[in-house]
Amino acid sequence: MRNLLIFLLVLVGIWWVRRALARLQGRGDGSTRAEGEAGRGEPERMIGCARCGLHVPESEAVREGDAFYCSEEHRRLGVER
Ligand SMILES: [Zn+2]
Repeated sequence: MRNLLIFLLVLVGIWWVRRALARLQGRGDGSTRAEGEAGRGEPERMIGCARCGLHVPESEAVREGDAFYCSEEHRRLGVER
């Protein structure tokens, strides 16, 4: 009975090592490939806030007319005078 337990532990160990190696080589693991594609995307344009000058990605900027702001609050406050 004890030998069987050790045998199973060895099997699990081999399976775990093989899985870790496959992940390192980037094979058979879809998640690492998806991350690589996302990282290859074009860098997003950065826009300076018209209120405080903070640079934020275009998709996160709040737009009002021709002006961009870092947050909804700064859009409400408007351009600093
Ligand atoms: Zn701002």
